[in-house]
This record gives sequence, C-alpha cells and structure tokens, in this order.
Amino acid sequence: MNHLIPIIIVSLIICLTACGPAPETFLDNPVIAHRGAWKTEGLPQNSIASLQRAIDIGCAGSEFDVWMTSDGVLVLNHDADYEGLVLETATFEEVSQLRLSNGERLPTAEEYIRKGMTQNRTKLIFEVKPSKISTGRGVELAEKSVDIVKSMGAEKWVDYITFDHDIGLRIIALDPDANVAYLNGDKSPQELKEAGYFGLDYNIRVMKENPNWFEEARELGLNINVWTVNNREDMEWLLDQNVDYITTDEPELLFEMLND
Ligand code: MG
Repeated sequence: MNHLIPIIIVSLIICLTACGPAPETFLDNPVIAHRGAWKTEGLPQNSIASLQRAIDIGCAGSEFDVWMTSDGVLVLNHDADYEGLVLETATFEEVSQLRLSNGERLPTAEEYIRKGMTQNRTKLIFEVKPSKISTGRGVELAEKSVDIVKSMGAEKWVDYITFDHDIGLRIIALDPDANVAYLNGDKSPQELKEAGYFGLDYNIRVMKENPNWFEEARELGLNINVWTVNNREDMEWLLDQNVDYITTDEPELLFEMLND
C-alpha cells in the first residue's frame, strides 16, 4: 500500500496543474485599448507589447489592425504602409525585415492571437482592413482571418470590426456566431441588425450627429462601441449614454474615471 502513496501524490499534482486555478473570464468593463495600450509607456501601436499592457491594466478588449501581404500573410499595422513599404504589395519576407520602435517585428495576426490566448480576460478586437487594391482582396482577407481564428480555436477571444460592409457580411456568413461590428457610420442600427451585425462601432462624431442611435441600437440588442475617445468630457457623455465599449488611446484615463 505504501508504494501507492507517491503515485497518488504525483497524480494529485498532475491533476492540480492540469486543472489550474479557477478559470478567469473576460472582463466586464467598457475599456477597449485602441491599437493596444501604447501611449503611457511609449510602446509601438499594434505591437505584442501594447497588447500585453492592455492585458496588464485590465482592458476588456485590445483593438488591432490587420492587412494581408502579397503572399497572403496577415500582419498588423494601422496604415497601409510602414516605413514606405506598402504591406499589400510587399512579401512577408520583406515585411519581416521591418522593426517597430521596441525592436519587435510587425506581428502576424497569428502571433498576436496566440499571445492573446495565453489569458482570457482581455478580448481581441480584430479590425479587418479594407483592401486598397480591390474589394475582392478585402473579402479574401476576411476569409483568411476567419480561417486563422477557427484553426487556432480562438473564436471566443476574437470580435471582428471593419469599415467594409462586404468584409463584414463575409465574416458573418462564415461564422454566424462571431461578434462582428461595423465601423463606417453610414448604416442605421436597423440596417446593421438586418445584416446580422453584433453591433455598431462608430466614430463619436457620428453618434453626436445621431444621438437617437443609442436607444435604437439598444432596443435592437446591438452592442455599442464608440471611437476614438480620448478626453474626459466625451468619455463622461458616453458613460452617461451607457455604451458597452469606448475605444480609446487613453485607457488609463478611462479607468480613472470609472473608479471615481
Ligand atoms: Mg483600427
């Protein structure tokens, strides 16, 4: 019997390790870090470091921008080009020579998602950039985006946003359970609902021009996210409107206001 004790102890340790601590859940706050949380620490936007910082300070989401290289690799950057290299016409080999200010390469979507999947408190707000070459290429990027997310089993971490209605519709068709929000501001909540969107993610200017859309969206059960909100006055107004999310370059300021 005594010889069984070490086996029991080892089994117990393995079980505790495998089961781990109590599972965390995605945070319930309105703070979405715009291109990661980069500003306070002087980190590059759309970097793994800015995602880590968004996670560390407890943002509900970290937004990032994705383009597709000429050879079909999904990479992060806000603009269509970085240091003069146009991402859509460059090869991944060329893009991988570039460095962000902290020495990181421009992350691939896969690397970024893999990093995000090491935790489950901060969601990944995946912006699928419209192609400057053709609508079809944008749709191809949408297809590859959904493919990568599904192949990684990352569905519960990822919400999608896009300015391009064709991209939005393609994602909704490929993954009807995905949360997809529309950025472009030119569709009413009713139109978004009918198209199958999860929510609207509009510029604050659009919401100021259409204040009735808060109530209309809420009545339709649409999620409301507003960008890019960097000052107290606007944050206060949106918190009063009970929006679901505020996308900001100043997540620390928004947390400060929430804690007041
Ligand atoms: Mg973006």
